[in-house]
Amino acid sequence: MIQYQSENITVFQSALYQTTSTIIQTNEMVLLVDPNWLSGEVETIKDYVNAIKGNRDTYLLFTHGDFDHIIGYQAFPDAKVIGSVGLKQHPQKEKKLQLIREFDNSNYIIRNYPIEFPRLDIVIQEDGQQLCLGDTTITFYLAPGHTEDGLMTIVEPLGVLIAGDYLSDFERPFIYQSAKAYRQTLEKADRIFATHSIHLLIPGHGQATADSTEMTRRLDMASDYLNRLCEAVMTNNEIALDELYHEHAFLSPFTEGCHKENINIIRRECGSSGIAGG
Ligand SMILES: [Zn+2]
Repeated sequence: MIQYQSENITVFQSALYQTTSTIIQTNEMVLLVDPNWLSGEVETIKDYVNAIKGNRDTYLLFTHGDFDHIIGYQAFPDAKVIGSVGLKQHPQKEKKLQLIREFDNSNYIIRNYPIEFPRLDIVIQEDGQQLCLGDTTITFYLAPGHTEDGLMTIVEPLGVLIAGDYLSDFERPFIYQSAKAYRQTLEKADRIFATHSIHLLIPGHGQATADSTEMTRRLDMASDYLNRLCEAVMTNNEIALDELYHEHAFLSPFTEGCHKENINIIRRECGSSGIAGG
């Protein structure tokens, strides 16, 4: 279904995990982000792109390599593919593909395209790297923490921030890689809000928002949560950890596993660097 639409921007939302697929069209190009999840949903997105694109080039951006975000890759074989250097060098490509196959087999899902790991045409190596297409400027920032290969993308002059799996309206931080890097990415997002004029924030899961107060609330919520989680881990405060777990939406074995992983990663990192508080 479509959760947000304006003249240039359409955000589809999957029935699963409120995962977003974004399409931005300008005079020069069509940019498609993380087309996902179910085969019918990917087909709808593909029909939509084919209906609007005309003779414009299609660019396919992956915010990171988690399997739910790359699942639709080969439905768009003619697109120019954009991702981070971390995605290009992803150490567990085969594992991600295996997760897609397991998901499809577990749910009897048939796709009319092959399952492959994205091969990149445009590799984002550093913060501030830009892609200029006519009047449109796309600026990229590396966004590790959730995963090492994360990317935040700003499309100007529209003022759209595509955040990947950060700055959701309801998800608490899922740290799959590093709490320290996650915190640095939130600080980077804060600088992005200060230096770019952001009119629309689109998270990987949940609602897009055009409200700057809401954007700040999400940033504060994530960094406050991380601070309290680090504090609770370092002081071995089981009650606080349990309360922090219950702040997650949609409690399930999935969120339980993510919470445990958050704690494990912080324990590992705090041992050497003492990241709480700061
Ligand atoms: Zn995700």
